[in-house]
This record gives sequence, structure tokens and C-alpha cells, in this order.
Amino acid sequence: MRRQQDDLLHRGIGMTSQRTRERLIQRLYEEGLSNAAVLEVIRRTPRHLFVDEALAHRAYEDTALPIGHNQTISQPYMVGRMTELLLAGGPLDKVLEIGTGSGYQTAVLAQLVERVFSVERIQTLQERAKERLTELSLRNVVFRWGDGWEGWPALAPYNGIIVTAAAADVPQALLDQLAPGGRLVIPVGEGTTQQLQLIIREGDGFARHVLDNVRFVPLLHGSQL
Ligand code: SAH
Repeated sequence: MRRQQDDLLHRGIGMTSQRTRERLIQRLYEEGLSNAAVLEVIRRTPRHLFVDEALAHRAYEDTALPIGHNQTISQPYMVGRMTELLLAGGPLDKVLEIGTGSGYQTAVLAQLVERVFSVERIQTLQERAKERLTELSLRNVVFRWGDGWEGWPALAPYNGIIVTAAAADVPQALLDQLAPGGRLVIPVGEGTTQQLQLIIREGDGFARHVLDNVRFVPLLHGSQL
């Protein structure tokens, strides 16, 4: 078992050498990521295991890559940026993620917060992500196949919510499921006009911060096999 895992972690080690990973971290730092814990987790998370073997040699480039079903694994900079925003208010217990995709962002989060609840609308992607996290022995994640527009009400409230697809409007269900002081990081907008927003539940209302211009795949409705 142990042996199997070692083989898996070192698959394609030539192309995914420590040096290549260090270069990525250096670049993310130069681009403005500053949370040492987040950078360290990105450094040690084997992103090449989250893409097709044919793309493994590009896994440590700072770029989004296709994962099938017209979806992409997020760019490492964006994974780091969103994770930093989520964690900037202090340690997080329960985090809801909408858009599991490859499971890469999920794996990063799982190493920085207590528990992750991750919702994906495409069942095939969800199953593969689940396998990868099991292989990496990340056990504090629960997966759900469903429509993220509804959040995951049964387990609410959450201290943090991260959405990795762009919504035309912020889903009301996600606002409702945010704990007091909870933080929601979400790309909002359509087509090429999208902005990353940080929304914090404060008292009876919400504080909204409009941040970077971004480019994400759309948050779709319904679920599919
Ligand atoms: N963080 C992922 C990003 C995947 S791309 C990664 O790094 O791999 C966005 C993902 O959101 C896709 O997998 C897409 O299927 C999913 N998605 C889109 N709309 C959704 C919805 N309404 N509910 C749940 N997942 C959704």
C-alpha cells in the first residue's frame, strides 16, 4: 500500500522535479502571494496528479489546464489568492467549496482548515477528485454531487465558502449558509467581465469587497453524470 502510494507520488518525477515546483512558488511570491502557510501547502501538493498524464509536464506552470467536460483546473496563483482571502480572518473550522473539479483546490484547503465540504455538479469529476484525495490520505473532506447554487444546507453554517466558477449573481443560498463573521470568496460576473469578491457576514448584513478582475468557467445550474 505504502509502496503503491510512493510510486504514485513520484510518477513523472522527471518533469515534476522539486526545482520546477520551487520555481512556481518563487513566481507566486513575486506575484504577491504572501501567506507562508499557503505557499508551503502549494509547494508540497503534487498538482501533476490532478491533471491527465499527458499534461503532467505542465502541472507546475502558473496556468489553468483542461480536465475534461469543458472544465479547467484553476491556475495556482488563483488557488493561492482565494485561499489567502479565505484565511485572512483567522483559522477556519468548516469550509464549503463549490466546484470540486479536479480536487486540487480542495486538497490545498484540506491541509489548511479543519474540514472541507465540497460540492460538484459533474459526477465523473467528483468521483475522480475523491479518489485523488484518498490516495493523498487527505481525510477531512466530504464530497457531494449536486448543484452548488443551493450550497449544502444540511451542514450549514460555514465559516468560509469558496466558489471556483463564476456566478452571474451571488447565490442567495450561499449568503444564507454563511456563519456570523464567515467569509465568502466568489468570482461574480459573466463572460469576460468577472470580478473576485470577498463577502463577510457582519451583524445583520454583509460587507462586500470587489477585488481583482478574473476569468472563470461559469457556475451552471443543475447536475449531470
Ligand atoms: N477548483 C477546481 C476548479 C474546477 S472549474 C480545480 O482547480 O480543479 C469549476 C468547477 O465548477 C467545474 O468542475 C464545474 O463542473 C463546477 N461547477 C460549475 N457549476 C457548478 C454548480 N452549480 N455546482 C457545483 N459545481 C459546479
